[in-house]
Amino acid sequence: MSMKTYDIIIAGAGPGGLGAALKAASLGLTAALIERRSRLAPLTRACSEGLLHDEFYFGDSITVNKAQGTIDFKHSGFSLAYTGQTRAVTSFINVSRSGKQMKLVRENGLPIHLVFDKGRYLEENLSRAIEAGISFFPDQNVTGTASTPDGVTVHTNKESFRARFLVAADGLNSACARFAGFNRDRKFYGTLNAACWHIRGFEPEETAHIHLLEGSDDPSAFCICPGVQEGEWSVVISGFENTPDYAKRFEQVQDKSALSKYFHNVQVIRRSACILNLCEPLKNPCRDNVFVIGDGAWFGQTSNTHAALTGAKAVECIHSALNNGLSGDAAYLPYRTWWTENFVNYLKVPGGGNMFELLTADEIDEFFSYMPGEIVASMEPKKAGQLLGAFFQKLLSEIQQKNPGLVQRIAAIQKLTADEAWKEKQKAGFPVPESAE
Ligand SMILES: Cc1cc2nc3c(=O)[nH]c(=O)nc-3n(C[C@H](O)[C@H](O)[C@H](O)COP(=O)(O)OP(=O)(O)OC[C@H]3O[C@@H](n4cnc5c(N)ncnc54)[C@H](O)[C@@H]3O)c2cc1C
Repeated sequence: MSMKTYDIIIAGAGPGGLGAALKAASLGLTAALIERRSRLAPLTRACSEGLLHDEFYFGDSITVNKAQGTIDFKHSGFSLAYTGQTRAVTSFINVSRSGKQMKLVRENGLPIHLVFDKGRYLEENLSRAIEAGISFFPDQNVTGTASTPDGVTVHTNKESFRARFLVAADGLNSACARFAGFNRDRKFYGTLNAACWHIRGFEPEETAHIHLLEGSDDPSAFCICPGVQEGEWSVVISGFENTPDYAKRFEQVQDKSALSKYFHNVQVIRRSACILNLCEPLKNPCRDNVFVIGDGAWFGQTSNTHAALTGAKAVECIHSALNNGLSGDAAYLPYRTWWTENFVNYLKVPGGGNMFELLTADEIDEFFSYMPGEIVASMEPKKAGQLLGAFFQKLLSEIQQKNPGLVQRIAAIQKLTADEAWKEKQKAGFPVPESAE
C-alpha cells in the first residue's frame, strides 16, 4: 500500500495543531492531523481555561465575538470557532497564609480575564477543520520522524505518512521536537506537575481568580479559578516536587487554611492533570522541513489562543514557501522572524526569580499587610511588569521605614538570575533523555 501523502502533517490536535489545521484548510493545502487521543473533550490535561482578552501579548490580542461564534485575533486576520459561554473574572487575588490579600484589578473595571469551555473550543475547531477537508487520524501516537531534502516521513504506532512539511504541535513534552533533534543543547528548567479538580462548593465573596501563597513553607501553587458555569471552579495545584501529594494539599486547604471558610460540601465534577518538562525557548523553531509550534517550542504556556496563532503563522509561512518554490532558510524566514519578535524577545529571562516561592509564609503575610485594597495591574506580563514595577518601588520605599530587613530580602530575591532561581527545580526534574528514542 502506498504511503498517505500530504502538503503538511500536523502532529497533535491541541490549540496549536487546530490553528495550523484551520489555516491549512483555508489556504487550500492538504493536511493530515494526527492525534494520540480518541476524543479532545472532556479535557484530561490540567488547564484553568482562561482567556486573556483585549490585551496585547505574544503579538496579538483577542476578542470573543458572541454573534459570530468566534474568537478573533485583532491584527492577524485569524479566527477560531467558539460558540460556548464565557464568564468574566473580576480580579486576581493573592491570599497569604493568615488571609491578607494582594488584589489585582484591571483598568476601567474590565474583567481581569474571561474563562471559557476549552473542551468545547477544541471540539468545535476540530469539526470545523474536518468539514473544511483536513484528514483527521485520532488514536495514533507519533513514534518517529525522518527528514529528507524534499520532505518528512512521520511514523505512528499504526501507519506512516509523508508530507512536504511537519508542524510539530504535540505540546510541551513534544516528542517530534526530540525526534528531529530540536532539544539537543536546550537548557532544561524543571518538571512541572499539575493536578486539577473541577468542583462545586466554593463560595468566595467575588468571582475572582484566587492564589493561596505560602511561599517556601509550601511552594506548590494553589490556585482556584471560576469555571465557565455559574457555581463551578477549577482548583489547580502545581509545583516542581518529584512526588507531590496534591490530594492531601487540597484537603488541607479545605480544612485548615485562609480559604477554608469558602468551601462547603465540595463535589468533584471531573479531574485532570499533567506532567510537563520545561526547557528554554527554541530560538530557531524551524528547519529540515519541521516547524515546532505552540508549547513545544516555548518554555511554558503559549496559551490556549496564542498556541493556535503560532500554528496559523507557521502554515502561512509553509504556504508561501510552497507557492514560491522557496527552500532552505528562505522558506523558514517569515515564521522565524515572527517567532523571535513575539515570543523569544517577549520575556528576556525565562521565569526569572519567583518572589512568592522564595519568601516564607510569614514574610508574605507581613508584605501583604502593607497592600492597599486594590492594585491596578494586567494579566499581560509586560504591562503587568510596568504597572507593578512602579507600584512596588513606591511600596518598598514605604516599607523601608518600618521593616528594612524585609525590603532587603525582597531586593536579594529580585537580583537572582533565572539559573539561580530555578536551580532546585532543575535538580528535582526528570527530563526525557535525548537517547530515549
Ligand atoms: C495547569 C495549567 C493551567 C493552564 N491554564 C491556562 C489558562 O488558563 N489559559 C491559557 O490560555 N492557557 C493555559 N494553560 C496553557 C495552555 O494549556 C497551553 O499553552 C496550550 O494548551 C498549548 O497548546 P499546544 O497545542 O501547543 O499543546 P497541547 O495543548 O499540549 O496539545 C498537544 C496535543 O498533542 C497531542 N500529542 C502529544 N504527543 C503526541 C504524539 N506523540 N502523537 C500524537 N499526538 C500527540 C496531545 O494529546 C495534545 O492533544 C495552562 C497550562 C497548565 C499546565
